[in-house]
Amino acid sequence: MSNNKKLYLASPHMGGMEAQFIKEAFDTNWIAPLGPNVDAFEREVAETVGVKATAALSSGTAAIHMALKVLGIGRGDIVFCSSLTFAASCNPIIYEGAEPVFIDSEPETWNMSPNALERAMEDYSREGRLPKAVIVVNLYGQSADMDPIADICKRYKVPIIEDAAESLGADYKGIKSGTIGDFGIYSFNGNKIITTSGGGMLVSNNEEAIKKVKFWATQSRDAARHYQHSELGYNYRLSNILAGIGRGQLRVLVQRIAEKKNIYETYKKEFNKIKDIEMMPISNNGQPNYWLSVITLNKDSNVKPIDIILELEKYNIESRPVWKPMHLQPMFIGYSFYTHHGLENSVSEDIFNRGVCLPSDTKMTEEDIYRVINIINKLFILKGFEGEKIHVDEKVS
Ligand SMILES: *Cc1c(COP(=O)(O)O)cnc(C)c1O
Repeated sequence: MSNNKKLYLASPHMGGMEAQFIKEAFDTNWIAPLGPNVDAFEREVAETVGVKATAALSSGTAAIHMALKVLGIGRGDIVFCSSLTFAASCNPIIYEGAEPVFIDSEPETWNMSPNALERAMEDYSREGRLPKAVIVVNLYGQSADMDPIADICKRYKVPIIEDAAESLGADYKGIKSGTIGDFGIYSFNGNKIITTSGGGMLVSNNEEAIKKVKFWATQSRDAARHYQHSELGYNYRLSNILAGIGRGQLRVLVQRIAEKKNIYETYKKEFNKIKDIEMMPISNNGQPNYWLSVITLNKDSNVKPIDIILELEKYNIESRPVWKPMHLQPMFIGYSFYTHHGLENSVSEDIFNRGVCLPSDTKMTEEDIYRVINIINKLFILKGFEGEKIHVDEKVS
């Protein structure tokens, strides 16, 4: 039986209430600018994650940019940033003319290595060039090991920006991801766990800072009847329509996390039979939101990540490599990089070389998930995998 239904890595999944919030905006002609949905969305996210102040913005990238601005980062400043991430984590460092220093991952969560961070702090402190901020990324829905990271940053008095673009709803030791650092950012881009089609949010317990960001993000209009500007402005606010989508989405966040977790657990149960496959590790420091299910393949496996990606593609199924670390990007060649324990081969590069992000779309049925598993199982058998018997259902796929 051939089934060519397209399966996605992660696609928008509406909950049902979104259209109602948009309709309200239309009915009251609150199409733009800002409006009640924006205020409500900000309040509801603040309640969901437990934080004092929030600013709804046009993207997660804009939120990182504003966090850097409000921390006073400018030309020539140093900012530390996780290397294993999407480029949007560090591009705003360049927007402000500052200099990124990339920090490797540790193997337990794939997030920022406290060891590499500590060594970088020692070096830059000795040179009298301490960073003005550390951007810690919570990759694929799992929090970094924030306690040791926060300890180090506190000792050197360096503020933390938590890039929680991928980890909304996750927690670390009971505290919501994105609220542990001085600032946190979320993304509502189309492939994130919830989406506004495009959007982001900056969160903090520093209410003054969030107020300032809202001012900058609406073109820095001074309190005057005419248009007067004493500061550089940005057009970074979220529209009232998109905030309506966000309000609907927020109502299904818990459900989406449960669905994502089921996808991860199903892959984990089935791939347990293939010793060459390892699931992305989940630390017992918290609950991830399981945004993407990611596997790594043993170095000496006959099946390589690209084999899986190409095979799934034949069946109209989307998968992709792990983020290529920033220290390996042509754009960022030449900036400093600190590896975990000073190892010659970085942890992040190893994960990049061996990892595959599998379809993690919450609209997949159980049968769809098993279609993916079957195709991968078949590939392993084809490539001569021997081991515990793996089941292939010929009827599926
Ligand atoms: C998606 C993402 C961003 C950027 O968010 P946008 O809303 O797309 O600008 C930043 N950091 C990480 C880790 C992301 O995955």
